[in-house]
Amino acid sequence: MAKPIFWNNSKRYYDLKSYWLNRFGCRVHKLPIDAGFTCPNRDGSIAAGGCIYCDGRGSALRRTGPLPSVSEQVRRGKAFYQQYPKSEKFIAYFQTFTNTYAPVENLRTLYDEALAVEDVIGLSIGTRPDCVSYETLMLIRSYAERSHVWLELGLQSIHDRTLQMINRGHDASTFRHAVRRAGGGPILICVHIIVGLPGETREEILETATAIAELPVQGIKIHNILALEGTALGEHFKLGEVGMMTREEYVGTVCDILEILPPTMVIQRLTADGYREIFLGPAWAGNKLAVINAIDRELETRDSWQGKRWEGTA
Ligand code: SF4
Repeated sequence: MAKPIFWNNSKRYYDLKSYWLNRFGCRVHKLPIDAGFTCPNRDGSIAAGGCIYCDGRGSALRRTGPLPSVSEQVRRGKAFYQQYPKSEKFIAYFQTFTNTYAPVENLRTLYDEALAVEDVIGLSIGTRPDCVSYETLMLIRSYAERSHVWLELGLQSIHDRTLQMINRGHDASTFRHAVRRAGGGPILICVHIIVGLPGETREEILETATAIAELPVQGIKIHNILALEGTALGEHFKLGEVGMMTREEYVGTVCDILEILPPTMVIQRLTADGYREIFLGPAWAGNKLAVINAIDRELETRDSWQGKRWEGTA
């Protein structure tokens, strides 16, 4: 398969910026929001410890006093990006913890507040696949019928053995079920995966990518695993009990993943973010730009691009 013309970009994958430029004809920015949610995998509903890599701190805003309202956070985010030319439209990104973990009427109030701000054209809602009830799904669908809505589902791995090991608190079939219920209609699905989870081989990581490629999923965020202070994984890392991928291994695996994903899938992320003050390793992960540049170089060296080895039909 040749590199798709419809990307309209100079990259070897379909990045989010290009997708939005093609779709809306202007720059669109995601505005991160911490609406004060928690997570059932942390508060004891499912488990108390959370995923082994989760630092449980929430956004930086939580450490500066009471959280500003959703509309105030959106306004601040807009003001930041409006310094830059052609920043015309915005997506309210409910990012921190599990953003569907509340009664549906509370969710409606929060989402409505974000969408009421001028130039906010949609929502991106980060959550767990086991935390989207029928009522919540219907609410999100109602927004998707009139605005641009992404549902971001954390999966991390398609392998139950890994999900258990990282204490995700759900299995792969729960994820597949959530995608089948939510996908195929107006809601756009973005799946989060982690590359380099302890004990996973490259083949197993590619099986995760293949499973996602076969589902009605329109976007993906690919993260490298980070060891952070205050997490179970961080403790194992400090004791030298977990190995981490080298940058070369990570870059090679990400390129393999990109090659088997559909060319229409929007690549929303290729690296992970962590707070500098609690970052333990691997050291190479501290330079995100270098990782992204290395991915670009590797694809160029291979003369390859997203979808080159995709086995589906266009
Ligand atoms: S689901 Fe997300 S917020 Fe909840 S424990 Fe895991 S990483 Fe943390």
